[in-house]
Amino acid sequence: MIAHVDIDCFFASAEMVRDASLIGKPVVVAGASPRGVVLSPNYEARRFGIRSAMPVEVAKKLCPKAIYLSANHGYYSDLSKRFRSVLEYFTPCVEMVSVDEAFIDLTGTSLILGTPPEAARHIRERILSETSLSCSVGVGSSKTVAKIASQLAKPKVSRDQVSYGTGVLYVVPTKEGSFLAELPISFLPGIGPKSESKLASIGVVKVSDLEKVPRSTLEKVFGKSTNFLLDCAKGKDARAVDVSRIRKSLGHETTFEDDVYDVRTICAHLQDLCVEVAEGMFRSNLIAKTVTLKLKYADFTTSTYSRTTGRALVTSKDLGDLVLDMYDRLQRKGPVRLTGVSVSGLLPRSHAHQLYLLDETTHRDRYKDLEETVFVLRQRYGREAVYKGPRMGPKRQ
Ligand SMILES: [Mg+2]
Repeated sequence: MIAHVDIDCFFASAEMVRDASLIGKPVVVAGASPRGVVLSPNYEARRFGIRSAMPVEVAKKLCPKAIYLSANHGYYSDLSKRFRSVLEYFTPCVEMVSVDEAFIDLTGTSLILGTPPEAARHIRERILSETSLSCSVGVGSSKTVAKIASQLAKPKVSRDQVSYGTGVLYVVPTKEGSFLAELPISFLPGIGPKSESKLASIGVVKVSDLEKVPRSTLEKVFGKSTNFLLDCAKGKDARAVDVSRIRKSLGHETTFEDDVYDVRTICAHLQDLCVEVAEGMFRSNLIAKTVTLKLKYADFTTSTYSRTTGRALVTSKDLGDLVLDMYDRLQRKGPVRLTGVSVSGLLPRSHAHQLYLLDETTHRDRYKDLEETVFVLRQRYGREAVYKGPRMGPKRQ
């Protein structure tokens, strides 16, 4: 029995937690770069058609009066740790999928936590009382079913109103097939807008339509993924909750709710992530030897690319040069669903000088000093206080 726990519009809710005057107003958390994308609109903002991964400019046309805030990843990651520790209070089998989303294994917990829906309600109430964040919980016999159930338990938005979801949705084992049958095909993992329209052209609109299509036709569209897709359509999915992810690295990821196609948007976002990671290294007093770029594509395949250098990676420029070079060389650039930058091979910051190349020392030292000053100012006066290089703060836009 697996539960998928997902915080409702996490970044926007996090901002409402610390500023109650935002409650009831449309709030949009967006990336800080000039070509920023919407990272998290709250439900009020969604009423105006604002969606995540949408360029901020477009969002501003849809709803100019919304409150636009830039992301505070340090604060969100603190909240995320609290979210995680609430989950770990219930079971050690927690797999964090992203900052605001986790699978937990509820198998064998019924003596302590009660039936699966009871357990889900306990977890939801406790997350609300410990973090003031509301979440949705889906429970089922597989990851696919649990994840779809949590999405259906969320609040629903229409132009006129936001109606509250059930918060918890439990899919009784053996009923997975009928639960999924009537849902739009886009609910299945890996089905983005492109696959959706291809499927529509062969008459597949809802999940149960898959049965009507010959297997060979599906294989033309999905190749090797056909089996996975057909299993998912029946709610079968053998993936277990993976608790083995031990972190010896430091990184940031962004999952977009919709796929991002624009290469320049992706590059701008990667640079933002490099700044976040450099700031994380600075705060933890670390430097790195390896940087890794992770991309999850619209079809849910994930690729990671790493570079290890003999010199220390210290600043966002050190990271950005390598990350953008790796990205440049890729044959396949999008559409992308998730971008991530992480560093490993971590060393104490005091090692930095030994690993600098001599002829670069002066220039890199000055850049490092500048960036560290920016991080200190941001820590002291808030993230909007100062921006680096070509980045432009929201007040100047
Ligand atoms: Mg979420």
